[in-house]
Amino acid sequence: MNTIQKLTELFTRFPGIGPRQAGRFVYFLLSSSHSYRSELIRLIGSLKDETKICTLCSRFHSNHADTCSLCVDKNRDSSLLMLVEKDVDLDNIERAKGYSGYYFVVGGTVPILDKNPEESIRVKELEKAVTGRIQEGLKEIILAFSINPEGENTTQFIHRVLEPLIFEHDIKVSTLGRGLSTGSELEYSDSETIKNALKNRV
Ligand SMILES: [Zn+2]
Repeated sequence: MNTIQKLTELFTRFPGIGPRQAGRFVYFLLSSSHSYRSELIRLIGSLKDETKICTLCSRFHSNHADTCSLCVDKNRDSSLLMLVEKDVDLDNIERAKGYSGYYFVVGGTVPILDKNPEESIRVKELEKAVTGRIQEGLKEIILAFSINPEGENTTQFIHRVLEPLIFEHDIKVSTLGRGLSTGSELEYSDSETIKNALKNRV
């Protein structure tokens, strides 16, 4: 395999990237400036060292502190906690500007018939985050997972995990269910759809 083929193969491992797009990336890099490529190499090289997982919401961030800027923002609504599958979902919801509460990134979904669901998502961190938010006045948990069988399964599993806490502290649990159409993924939903889904949560 030559360098072009090797790099193309590496790009095909990116989410949603097929061989044709991967090839376009490689040719784009070949025609780009030296400074662009250097900056790209530098940022990729330092990405892991300069990024941490927030100790409160489990999202990636590049603050020097242990917690991200969202979690320490006191102007946000502490009665709301939204659970999302991954960082890009959180970014997309923030972009829609219809939500002012806090978040937790569960880090995946629970596949149907999964024998060890507690290993598919961040269960311990989630329980800790919810317990912490309860002390700050949490009233509602919004489960914002994609509307597909795996998303539904994740919703049900998290419901079971959090049941004792929800029951003891009388916390409402809602989903974006009816606002998003079946099969829709938060990652690809536009701002209006997300805002409506939030407004019409059940
Ligand atoms: Zn955070």
